[in-house]
Amino acid sequence: MEHVSCNLCGGSDLRPVYEQPDTLFDINDWFSIVGCARCGLGFVNPRPEPEEMTRYYPPEFFSAFENSGAHQNRYAAQAALLAPTTAKANGTLPLLLDIGCANGDFPRFMQARGWRVEGLEVSPNANAITDFPVHRMPLPELDFDAPRYDAITAWAVLEHVHDPRAYFNKAAKLLKPGGQFVFLVTNFNSLSSRALFNEDIPRHLYFFTQDTLRAYLADAGLEMRNIYFDKAIFEMTPVNVLYYLWAKLRRRKLLWRETPESRHLYIQRKELARGMGATLRYALTHPIAAMDRCAAMLYGRWQIRRKSYGIITVAAIKPVP
Ligand SMILES: [Zn+2]
Repeated sequence: MEHVSCNLCGGSDLRPVYEQPDTLFDINDWFSIVGCARCGLGFVNPRPEPEEMTRYYPPEFFSAFENSGAHQNRYAAQAALLAPTTAKANGTLPLLLDIGCANGDFPRFMQARGWRVEGLEVSPNANAITDFPVHRMPLPELDFDAPRYDAITAWAVLEHVHDPRAYFNKAAKLLKPGGQFVFLVTNFNSLSSRALFNEDIPRHLYFFTQDTLRAYLADAGLEMRNIYFDKAIFEMTPVNVLYYLWAKLRRRKLLWRETPESRHLYIQRKELARGMGATLRYALTHPIAAMDRCAAMLYGRWQIRRKSYGIITVAAIKPVP
């Protein structure tokens, strides 16, 4: 484990925000999440060092990608954020780099829509990709710096990396003037991220807000053009909102130990097969948690309307000098 200062402003005045264990793989492994008093960036601190991270990404983590052919709606929503493709006067097609491309389904989706594509993926668990180039290293380690891409995308990637600043800076270098950097992260200004334990700890190491993202972009020489708070691409259902309200009524901060056992952990503990039967059993044995799931769906809609949803999508541009 390593202690770090703020990746955005270098500050070391860090305030505790909450603590929770790794609810996906090891319920006894606890982490502290802090906020930088100066700039508002959130992060896990202390945190596992980069070499230690593989144990938090067991092969089961990647099995979610396996039937990613089913995510065509998501890819269409992602593609809609990119400016339409137009071949250059000399006939070359625009070039896209997708950071964290997993099995390559999104780049493949874009390839079918008139883009040349490249991927970047650090996980050795991701399947082999043979139909376009894939860089097998973290973005900052690419050994070229010249502007090359018309667009760079990163869907739910930047919250996983150890040095977000290096990613923003490298993306800025690799974009051609006028090129787009489009990415999705979680929203540390949302109740979901700050107080409801909806983040995937410790796979998520950094927690961003509109202001901290704007600062990262500006430092890298990029401009934020659009920001969206919605579930068009990924959802973050604000589960535990009823428990939060109950704690608030008693003027207390909700602790992770006071939240109900998740459906995921219940199914694991009871060794049930996933499906409607297991969900029903969970609802019958955890009636308040089941009510909370309904409240969370309603509250999620309200968050979207109030621009306080747990997911932020940003379209930024490298200005033409
Ligand atoms: Zn800071």
